[in-house]
Amino acid sequence: MRRLSVAVAALAMLLAFTALPASAIFGTATRPFPFPFLRGDHNGGSKCAACTLVVGLLEQQMQIKKVNAETSMDLFCSYLPIKLVTDACYVAVGLYGGKIAPLLDDGETADTVCNAIGMCGSEAPVCRLFPAKKQRTEQEFEAHIRKVRAEAAREGLIGKFNICELIPGVCRVEDHLPFYDADGDRFSTYETLRGTDWRGKDCNDSDATVFPGRNATDAVVDANCNGIFGVDATSGRTYEELYCGGTGAMGVAALGDSATAHFHIPPTYVTAANLSAATFAHLVRNAENELDWPMLSWSTGHLDPNSFYPDISGPKGSLYTHMLDDNLCMHRDYQNLGVNGAKVSNLEPFDLLLARNATSGVKPLLLIMSMIGNDVCHWDHTFATMTKPEQYKAAVIAALEKADTFLPAGSQVVLIPLVDGRILYDTMHNRIHPIGETNKDVTYADLYDFLNCLDTSPCWGWMNSNASVRNGTWAIAESLNAQLPIIAAESIGKYQNFKVNFLGNVFDDALNKYMAEFPGDAWELIEPVDGFHPSQKANSLLGYYLYNVTKTAGLLPAVNPNNAAITARFGDQGGY
Ligand code: CA
Repeated sequence: MRRLSVAVAALAMLLAFTALPASAIFGTATRPFPFPFLRGDHNGGSKCAACTLVVGLLEQQMQIKKVNAETSMDLFCSYLPIKLVTDACYVAVGLYGGKIAPLLDDGETADTVCNAIGMCGSEAPVCRLFPAKKQRTEQEFEAHIRKVRAEAAREGLIGKFNICELIPGVCRVEDHLPFYDADGDRFSTYETLRGTDWRGKDCNDSDATVFPGRNATDAVVDANCNGIFGVDATSGRTYEELYCGGTGAMGVAALGDSATAHFHIPPTYVTAANLSAATFAHLVRNAENELDWPMLSWSTGHLDPNSFYPDISGPKGSLYTHMLDDNLCMHRDYQNLGVNGAKVSNLEPFDLLLARNATSGVKPLLLIMSMIGNDVCHWDHTFATMTKPEQYKAAVIAALEKADTFLPAGSQVVLIPLVDGRILYDTMHNRIHPIGETNKDVTYADLYDFLNCLDTSPCWGWMNSNASVRNGTWAIAESLNAQLPIIAAESIGKYQNFKVNFLGNVFDDALNKYMAEFPGDAWELIEPVDGFHPSQKANSLLGYYLYNVTKTAGLLPAVNPNNAAITARFGDQGGY
C-alpha cells in the first residue's frame, strides 16, 4: 500500500491535485518537505501551477495529435501506469472535464481553464504562464479571468478537489530510512524507497552484523558486503587482510538537500510531443525515489545514467565512483542522506539517520555536509526569513558535535558552502522551457515569474527577474558561507574522531571552470524542468571536481595496489 501511496504522492505533485499547504502534509522544519514544487497556498499556489502545466500539456496535445479536448484528457489518463493513479485521473476528468472541454475546444489557454475550474485562487494579481490568446489585451485578459473565477465560485468548484480526501495515502510522510530492511541495520536489498539507490546493498538482510562499511576480516562471511572474503591458502591470511588491510579504505556519506539527492523531473513529463504510455512507464520507481536520483548523484552515484533513458541520461561519475576506482575495498560503502527541501538546521537530525557507529566496528567515513540552497531559498517574497549567520553557524556546530559522538576515529568532514544561484537566471532566463516547446511561447523567466506570482517558487531569491533580489540573496548566502572557515578554524583540537575541512566554494569553482571552458554549454548544467537544480552533466562534473579537491587536500587514501588482484579474484564484487 505504501508503494502505491508514494507513487500517487509524486503524481499529485505533478498534477497538483492537492489542496493542502505543504506544512499540513509534511510537517515543520524537523521534517523537511520532500517535494519542493508542492509549496505555497496563495493564489492557488502549487495546485494552480501544476494544473496549468497539465492543462497546458492537454492543450498542446490537441494541437499535435489533432484531437479534441475530451480525447486529449482520455489519452492523458490512459498513459498513467497504475490503476489507482489512472482512476484518480478519471475522477478528476469526471469532476472537471465537462467544464474544461468546451473552454479548450474554444481556444482558451490553460491559465483561463485553471481559473475556471477553481484551481487558482481569487487573490490579486492574476497569474499567467502562457500568452493570452484570442487577441485579448492585458486588461481584457484580467477581466476575463475574474469573470471565469466568479463563475467557478458560484458553481462551488473552488477547493472541491482534495487529493488527501480522495486517496488518504497520498498525505503520509516519510522517515528517510530504508522501507524494506528486515534486520534493521539501515541497509536494504530493495532499490528504491531509500534502499540500494541511496545506501550500499545489504548482502544479508537477515543478519544485522552484515552491512557495508564494517571493518571485518571476513574469513568465511562477507560481513562488509564489498564482495571480498575467504582465506588465501598460501599465506593463511584472509583476502580482506591481504588486499584491504592498511589501505586506508573509508566510506563516503552525504548529508544534504535536493541537490545532494539529485532531484530531477523527467523532461518528457512536461513535453507535449512526447506524451504516451512510455512517458510515465517508470512513474512508480521515480515516485518511490521522491523524484531524486541518488544513484546518479555527484556524491554517491554508482549506476549508468543512460540505463534510465528516456527519464534521464548523461555522463556517469561521482565522488564515490572515483574513490572506488582508487580502492575497490570500499565497494558499496556509500550513504546518501539528501532530502528535498532540507537546510542547515536538518544536519543534526540527519546525523542520526546515518548507519556508521564506531561501536559497531566500522571503517572511517568521509562525511560531506552539503546544504547548498534552502537556507536562502523559499517561496516567501522576503529576505527576512532566510537563515541568519548565527543560526547557520550554530546549526553546523551542533551537527559536528553530534557526529563526533558516533563516528569512528580517522573520519573526515567536508563542509560545502551555499552555491551562487545567480547562475540559474543568468543562464536560463531567455531559453524556452519544455512546457513552451510546442509553440515556443514560455521562457524560464516566464516560469520563474509565474511561480513567484503564485507564491510557490522553490526559490524566490534565485528564480527571480529582479537582479537586485538575486544580488541580495547572494549577499546573504555569502554571509552564511563566511561562517564555514571560522567553524573549521575553531574546530582544531575540538573533535575526537574527525578533522573539519572547508575547501572553498568548490561547487561554484567547478561550475565556473566548466563555463569558462565551454561558455555556450552552460545551460546543460541546469535541470531542464525545474530550471533550478544541477543537471546530470553537472552532477558528474561536481563529483569529479570534489574528488580532486579532497584528494589534493589529503583527505583520501592512496591508490590501492591490490585493485587488479581484487578484480581478478572477485570480479564485479557482486555488483550493485
Ligand atoms: Ca568483505
